[in-house]
Amino acid sequence: MFEYTGNMHIHSRYSDGSATISQIRNYAKQAGLDFIIVTDHFNMKAASQEGYKDGLLMLVGMEINEAHNHYLALDIDQVVKNNTEHPQEVIDAVNQQEGIGIIAHPLEYASNFLNEGNVYNWVDWSVEGFQGIEIWNLLSQWKGSISNFYKALYYILNPQGALIGPYPQTMRRFDDYQRQGKRIVACGGADAHAPGLRLGPFYFKIISYPFSFRSINMHTLLPQPLSGNLATDKKMIYDALRNASCWVANDYFKNSRGFSFTLCDDRQIWNMGEDVPWQENLQCKVSTPYRARVKLYKNGELAAESEGREHLFQGITRGIYRVEAYLRYRCKYRPWIFTNSIWVN
Ligand SMILES: [Zn+2]
Ligand SMILES: [Zn+2]
Repeated sequence: MFEYTGNMHIHSRYSDGSATISQIRNYAKQAGLDFIIVTDHFNMKAASQEGYKDGLLMLVGMEINEAHNHYLALDIDQVVKNNTEHPQEVIDAVNQQEGIGIIAHPLEYASNFLNEGNVYNWVDWSVEGFQGIEIWNLLSQWKGSISNFYKALYYILNPQGALIGPYPQTMRRFDDYQRQGKRIVACGGADAHAPGLRLGPFYFKIISYPFSFRSINMHTLLPQPLSGNLATDKKMIYDALRNASCWVANDYFKNSRGFSFTLCDDRQIWNMGEDVPWQENLQCKVSTPYRARVKLYKNGELAAESEGREHLFQGITRGIYRVEAYLRYRCKYRPWIFTNSIWVN
Protein backbone atom coordinates (compact mmCIF):
# COMPACT_ATOMS: atom_id res chain seq x y z
CA MET A 1 0.00 0.00 0.00
CA PHE A 2 1.07 3.59 -0.63
CA GLU A 3 0.60 6.20 2.06
CA TYR A 4 -0.54 9.76 1.33
CA THR A 5 -1.23 12.45 3.92
CA GLY A 6 -3.84 15.13 3.66
CA ASN A 7 -6.13 17.47 5.51
CA MET A 8 -9.83 17.19 4.85
CA HIS A 9 -11.47 20.05 6.75
CA ILE A 10 -10.36 23.45 5.50
CA HIS A 11 -12.08 26.83 5.05
CA SER A 12 -10.93 29.50 2.62
CA ARG A 13 -12.02 33.09 1.95
CA TYR A 14 -14.91 31.61 -0.02
CA SER A 15 -16.49 31.22 3.44
CA ASP A 16 -15.05 32.30 6.81
CA GLY A 17 -11.41 31.24 6.35
CA SER A 18 -8.78 33.97 6.26
CA ALA A 19 -6.62 32.65 3.39
CA THR A 20 -7.09 32.43 -0.35
CA ILE A 21 -7.01 29.09 -2.17
CA SER A 22 -3.57 29.84 -3.51
CA GLN A 23 -2.23 30.67 -0.01
CA ILE A 24 -3.81 27.50 1.36
CA ARG A 25 -2.13 25.45 -1.36
CA ASN A 26 1.24 26.99 -0.49
CA TYR A 27 0.84 26.39 3.25
CA ALA A 28 -0.18 22.77 2.62
CA LYS A 29 2.71 22.20 0.26
CA GLN A 30 5.17 23.67 2.79
CA ALA A 31 3.71 21.41 5.50
CA GLY A 32 4.51 18.39 3.33
CA LEU A 33 0.92 17.36 2.64
CA ASP A 34 0.07 15.32 -0.47
CA PHE A 35 -3.55 16.43 -0.73
CA ILE A 36 -6.08 18.82 0.79
CA ILE A 37 -9.86 18.87 0.71
CA VAL A 38 -11.32 22.39 0.95
CA THR A 39 -14.70 22.33 2.69
CA ASP A 40 -16.11 25.84 2.75
CA HIS A 41 -19.43 26.55 4.43
CA PHE A 42 -22.43 26.40 2.11
CA ASN A 43 -20.52 26.62 -1.20
CA MET A 44 -18.11 24.87 -3.56
CA LYS A 45 -16.71 27.95 -5.27
CA ALA A 46 -13.22 26.42 -5.18
CA ALA A 47 -14.38 23.41 -7.25
CA SER A 48 -13.23 24.90 -10.57
CA GLN A 49 -9.69 24.96 -9.13
CA GLU A 50 -9.59 21.26 -8.20
CA GLY A 51 -6.45 19.47 -9.31
CA TYR A 52 -2.69 19.43 -9.00
CA LYS A 53 -0.38 22.39 -8.56
CA ASP A 54 3.27 21.97 -7.58
CA GLY A 55 2.60 18.32 -6.81
CA LEU A 56 -0.17 19.03 -4.30
CA LEU A 57 -3.64 17.70 -5.07
CA MET A 58 -6.57 19.89 -4.06
CA LEU A 59 -10.09 18.46 -3.90
CA VAL A 60 -13.23 20.36 -2.97
CA GLY A 61 -16.16 19.35 -0.80
CA MET A 62 -18.27 21.52 1.50
CA GLU A 63 -19.64 21.92 5.02
CA ILE A 64 -23.41 22.08 5.43
CA ASN A 65 -25.68 23.50 8.19
CA GLU A 66 -25.50 26.43 10.57
CA ALA A 67 -26.30 26.47 14.28
CA HIS A 68 -25.64 22.74 14.80
CA ASN A 69 -25.56 19.39 12.93
CA HIS A 70 -22.55 20.41 10.80
CA TYR A 71 -21.99 17.89 8.01
CA LEU A 72 -18.99 17.54 5.71
CA ALA A 73 -19.80 16.39 2.19
CA LEU A 74 -17.02 15.09 -0.05
CA ASP A 75 -17.02 13.69 -3.58
CA ILE A 76 -20.13 15.61 -4.63
CA ASP A 77 -20.73 17.83 -7.69
CA GLN A 78 -23.72 19.88 -6.59
CA VAL A 79 -24.01 22.14 -3.54
CA VAL A 80 -26.25 20.62 -0.87
CA LYS A 81 -28.56 23.09 0.84
CA ASN A 82 -28.58 23.69 4.59
CA ASN A 83 -31.29 21.96 6.54
CA THR A 84 -30.01 22.41 10.08
CA GLU A 85 -33.16 21.14 11.79
CA HIS A 86 -33.55 18.10 9.50
CA PRO A 87 -30.03 16.70 9.06
CA GLN A 88 -31.41 13.40 7.73
CA GLU A 89 -32.45 15.27 4.59
CA VAL A 90 -28.93 16.64 4.24
CA ILE A 91 -27.49 13.13 4.66
CA ASP A 92 -29.92 11.77 2.07
CA ALA A 93 -29.06 14.57 -0.38
CA VAL A 94 -25.34 13.74 -0.10
CA ASN A 95 -26.09 10.03 -0.57
CA GLN A 96 -28.16 10.82 -3.67
CA GLN A 97 -24.97 12.19 -5.20
CA GLU A 98 -23.09 9.10 -3.95
CA GLY A 99 -20.91 11.42 -1.88
CA ILE A 100 -19.14 10.83 1.41
CA GLY A 101 -20.87 12.41 4.40
CA ILE A 102 -19.13 13.01 7.71
CA ILE A 103 -20.59 14.26 10.95
CA ALA A 104 -18.28 17.18 11.80
CA HIS A 105 -17.13 17.98 15.37
CA PRO A 106 -20.02 15.99 16.89
CA LEU A 107 -19.23 17.11 20.43
CA GLU A 108 -17.88 20.49 21.44
CA TYR A 109 -17.21 21.95 24.86
CA ALA A 110 -18.31 25.51 25.40
CA SER A 111 -15.64 28.11 26.04
CA ASN A 112 -16.63 30.63 28.73
CA PHE A 113 -14.42 33.09 26.98
CA LEU A 114 -15.00 32.74 23.22
CA ASN A 115 -18.06 32.80 20.94
CA GLU A 116 -20.32 33.62 23.92
CA GLY A 117 -20.11 29.97 24.90
CA ASN A 118 -21.64 28.78 21.61
CA VAL A 119 -21.13 25.17 20.57
CA TYR A 120 -21.85 23.58 17.20
CA ASN A 121 -22.72 20.05 18.28
CA TRP A 122 -24.40 17.28 16.36
CA VAL A 123 -27.73 17.07 18.16
CA ASP A 124 -29.84 14.66 16.10
CA TRP A 125 -28.53 11.12 16.69
CA SER A 126 -31.60 9.48 15.16
CA VAL A 127 -30.01 9.92 11.71
CA GLU A 128 -28.86 7.08 9.50
CA GLY A 129 -26.84 6.59 6.35
CA PHE A 130 -23.85 8.86 7.02
CA GLN A 131 -20.38 7.48 6.25
CA GLY A 132 -18.06 8.99 8.85
CA ILE A 133 -17.59 10.80 12.14
CA GLU A 134 -14.95 13.43 12.69
CA ILE A 135 -13.50 12.05 15.90
CA TRP A 136 -10.86 14.78 16.24
CA ASN A 137 -11.21 18.40 15.15
CA LEU A 138 -8.38 20.82 15.87
CA LEU A 139 -10.26 24.13 16.01
CA SER A 140 -13.12 22.65 17.97
CA GLN A 141 -10.83 21.17 20.63
CA TRP A 142 -8.75 24.33 20.81
CA LYS A 143 -11.85 26.49 21.42
CA GLY A 144 -13.05 24.11 24.12
CA SER A 145 -9.87 24.64 26.14
CA ILE A 146 -10.15 28.44 26.33
CA SER A 147 -11.80 29.05 29.67
CA ASN A 148 -10.21 32.40 30.57
CA PHE A 149 -7.88 35.17 29.38
CA TYR A 150 -4.69 33.44 30.55
CA LYS A 151 -5.59 30.16 28.87
CA ALA A 152 -6.44 32.07 25.70
CA LEU A 153 -3.01 33.69 25.71
CA TYR A 154 -1.25 30.41 26.54
CA TYR A 155 -3.01 28.36 23.88
CA ILE A 156 -2.66 31.08 21.24
CA LEU A 157 1.10 30.76 21.70
CA ASN A 158 1.06 26.97 22.27
CA PRO A 159 -1.91 25.61 20.32
CA GLN A 160 -0.45 22.08 20.42
CA GLY A 161 -1.00 22.09 24.21
CA ALA A 162 -4.76 22.10 23.68
CA LEU A 163 -4.75 18.81 21.77
CA ILE A 164 -5.90 16.33 24.38
CA GLY A 165 -7.16 13.73 21.89
CA PRO A 166 -10.57 12.60 20.67
CA TYR A 167 -13.17 12.98 23.43
CA PRO A 168 -13.97 9.63 25.12
CA GLN A 169 -17.69 10.22 24.57
CA THR A 170 -17.13 10.55 20.81
CA MET A 171 -14.97 7.41 20.73
CA ARG A 172 -17.66 5.51 22.65
CA ARG A 173 -20.22 6.59 20.10
CA PHE A 174 -17.93 5.52 17.25
CA ASP A 175 -17.36 2.11 18.91
CA ASP A 176 -21.10 1.68 19.51
CA TYR A 177 -21.85 2.18 15.81
CA GLN A 178 -19.15 -0.34 14.91
CA ARG A 179 -20.52 -2.89 17.39
CA GLN A 180 -23.95 -2.48 15.80
CA GLY A 181 -22.37 -3.47 12.49
CA LYS A 182 -22.37 0.07 11.06
CA ARG A 183 -19.04 0.70 9.40
CA ILE A 184 -18.54 4.32 10.24
CA VAL A 185 -15.19 5.81 9.21
CA ALA A 186 -13.14 7.66 11.84
CA CYS A 187 -11.99 10.98 10.37
CA GLY A 188 -10.04 13.96 11.66
CA GLY A 189 -9.27 17.43 10.42
CA ALA A 190 -7.96 20.87 11.14
CA ASP A 191 -11.15 22.87 10.48
CA ALA A 192 -8.57 25.42 9.35
CA HIS A 193 -9.79 29.03 9.36
CA ALA A 194 -6.96 30.97 11.07
CA PRO A 195 -9.47 33.49 12.45
CA GLY A 196 -8.45 36.73 14.14
CA LEU A 197 -8.94 37.19 17.88
CA ARG A 198 -8.72 40.39 19.89
CA LEU A 199 -7.33 39.92 23.38
CA GLY A 200 -7.22 43.21 25.30
CA PRO A 201 -4.97 45.52 23.28
CA PHE A 202 -3.58 42.64 21.19
CA TYR A 203 -4.78 41.12 17.95
CA PHE A 204 -3.80 37.55 17.10
CA LYS A 205 -4.34 35.28 14.19
CA ILE A 206 -5.09 32.01 15.97
CA ILE A 207 -4.25 28.49 14.82
CA SER A 208 -2.49 29.45 11.61
CA TYR A 209 -2.84 27.40 8.45
CA PRO A 210 0.80 26.21 8.70
CA PHE A 211 0.11 24.91 12.22
CA SER A 212 -3.23 23.40 11.15
CA PHE A 213 -1.59 21.40 8.37
CA ARG A 214 1.06 20.05 10.75
CA SER A 215 -1.39 18.79 13.34
CA ILE A 216 -4.58 16.76 12.83
CA ASN A 217 -4.27 15.06 9.46
CA MET A 218 -5.63 12.03 7.62
CA HIS A 219 -3.21 9.38 6.40
CA THR A 220 -4.65 7.30 3.56
CA LEU A 221 -3.42 3.97 2.21
CA LEU A 222 -3.84 3.56 -1.54
CA PRO A 223 -3.43 0.38 -3.60
CA GLN A 224 -1.46 2.29 -6.29
CA PRO A 225 0.76 5.36 -6.14
CA LEU A 226 -0.90 8.66 -7.07
CA SER A 227 -0.67 9.10 -10.84
CA GLY A 228 -0.82 12.89 -11.25
CA ASN A 229 -4.17 12.55 -13.03
CA LEU A 230 -6.98 14.36 -11.22
CA ALA A 231 -9.82 11.93 -11.97
CA THR A 232 -7.84 8.79 -11.12
CA ASP A 233 -6.31 10.17 -7.94
CA LYS A 234 -9.52 11.79 -6.70
CA LYS A 235 -11.21 8.41 -6.93
CA MET A 236 -8.39 6.64 -5.11
CA ILE A 237 -8.32 9.11 -2.23
CA TYR A 238 -12.09 9.16 -1.82
CA ASP A 239 -12.18 5.35 -2.02
CA ALA A 240 -9.57 5.13 0.75
CA LEU A 241 -11.73 7.39 2.93
CA ARG A 242 -14.90 5.45 2.06
CA ASN A 243 -13.25 2.11 2.76
CA ALA A 244 -11.72 3.28 6.07
CA SER A 245 -8.26 2.61 4.68
CA CYS A 246 -6.90 5.51 6.71
CA TRP A 247 -5.99 6.81 10.15
CA VAL A 248 -6.21 10.09 12.03
CA ALA A 249 -3.05 11.53 13.58
CA ASN A 250 -1.72 14.59 15.30
CA ASP A 251 1.51 14.99 13.33
CA TYR A 252 2.74 18.00 15.32
CA PHE A 253 5.21 16.35 17.73
CA LYS A 254 6.23 13.57 15.35
CA ASN A 255 4.84 12.79 11.92
CA SER A 256 3.01 9.46 11.90
CA ARG A 257 4.09 8.74 8.30
CA GLY A 258 5.24 5.13 8.06
CA PHE A 259 2.86 3.83 10.74
CA SER A 260 1.20 0.50 10.08
CA PHE A 261 -1.51 -1.61 11.71
CA THR A 262 -2.14 -4.99 10.11
CA LEU A 263 -3.48 -8.44 10.84
CA CYS A 264 -1.67 -11.33 9.22
CA ASP A 265 -1.33 -15.07 8.97
CA ASP A 266 1.52 -16.99 7.30
CA ARG A 267 0.43 -15.96 3.81
CA GLN A 268 -1.65 -12.80 3.86
CA ILE A 269 -1.78 -9.29 5.34
CA TRP A 270 -4.91 -7.23 6.01
CA ASN A 271 -5.06 -3.46 6.50
CA MET A 272 -7.47 -1.00 8.09
CA GLY A 273 -10.96 -1.21 6.63
CA GLU A 274 -10.58 -4.84 5.60
CA ASP A 275 -12.39 -8.02 6.59
CA VAL A 276 -10.42 -11.00 7.82
CA PRO A 277 -11.82 -14.54 7.90
CA TRP A 278 -11.02 -15.85 11.35
CA GLN A 279 -8.44 -18.59 11.71
CA GLU A 280 -6.24 -19.81 14.49
CA ASN A 281 -2.86 -18.29 13.73
CA LEU A 282 -3.89 -14.67 13.24
CA GLN A 283 -1.54 -12.03 14.61
CA CYS A 284 -1.79 -8.29 14.92
CA LYS A 285 1.30 -6.26 14.04
CA VAL A 286 1.64 -2.55 14.71
CA SER A 287 4.66 -0.55 13.73
CA THR A 288 5.12 3.03 14.94
CA PRO A 289 7.73 5.28 13.29
CA TYR A 290 8.84 6.39 16.79
CA ARG A 291 8.69 4.74 20.19
CA ALA A 292 5.10 4.86 21.42
CA ARG A 293 2.58 3.29 23.74
CA VAL A 294 0.12 1.35 21.63
CA LYS A 295 -3.33 0.34 22.83
CA LEU A 296 -5.21 -2.36 20.96
CA TYR A 297 -9.00 -2.08 21.28
CA LYS A 298 -11.34 -4.96 20.58
CA ASN A 299 -15.06 -4.19 20.22
CA GLY A 300 -14.42 -0.84 21.88
CA GLU A 301 -12.66 -2.30 24.95
CA LEU A 302 -8.96 -2.05 25.70
CA ALA A 303 -7.57 -5.53 24.93
CA ALA A 304 -3.77 -5.15 25.12
CA GLU A 305 -0.98 -2.59 25.42
CA SER A 306 2.58 -2.42 24.22
CA GLU A 307 5.49 0.03 24.37
CA GLY A 308 8.20 0.41 21.74
CA ARG A 309 8.32 0.67 17.95
CA GLU A 310 7.31 -2.84 16.91
CA HIS A 311 4.25 -4.29 18.60
CA LEU A 312 3.00 -7.85 18.25
CA PHE A 313 -0.34 -9.07 19.59
CA GLN A 314 -1.26 -12.76 19.55
CA GLY A 315 -4.48 -14.60 20.23
CA ILE A 316 -6.67 -12.62 17.81
CA THR A 317 -10.26 -13.87 17.94
CA ARG A 318 -13.43 -12.67 16.20
CA GLY A 319 -14.14 -8.98 16.74
CA ILE A 320 -13.51 -5.42 15.63
CA TYR A 321 -9.96 -4.19 16.20
CA ARG A 322 -8.57 -0.67 16.23
CA VAL A 323 -5.45 0.96 17.62
CA GLU A 324 -4.56 4.13 19.50
CA ALA A 325 -0.94 5.23 19.83
CA TYR A 326 0.43 7.70 22.37
CA LEU A 327 3.75 9.43 21.88
CA ARG A 328 5.94 10.28 24.84
CA TYR A 329 7.07 13.85 24.38
CA ARG A 330 8.50 16.09 27.13
CA CYS A 331 7.62 13.68 29.95
CA LYS A 332 4.01 13.34 28.83
CA TYR A 333 2.11 10.86 26.69
CA ARG A 334 0.50 12.76 23.81
CA PRO A 335 -2.45 11.35 21.86
CA TRP A 336 -0.98 10.63 18.45
CA ILE A 337 -2.62 8.02 16.18
CA PHE A 338 -6.26 6.80 16.01
CA THR A 339 -6.91 4.12 13.43
CA ASN A 340 -9.87 2.76 11.60
CA SER A 341 -10.85 -0.83 12.26
CA ILE A 342 -10.03 -4.28 10.97
CA TRP A 343 -12.89 -6.76 11.20
CA VAL A 344 -12.32 -10.41 12.07
CA ASN A 345 -15.41 -12.42 11.15
ZN1 LIG B 1 -18.36 23.15 11.54
ZN1 LIG C 1 -15.56 23.65 9.45
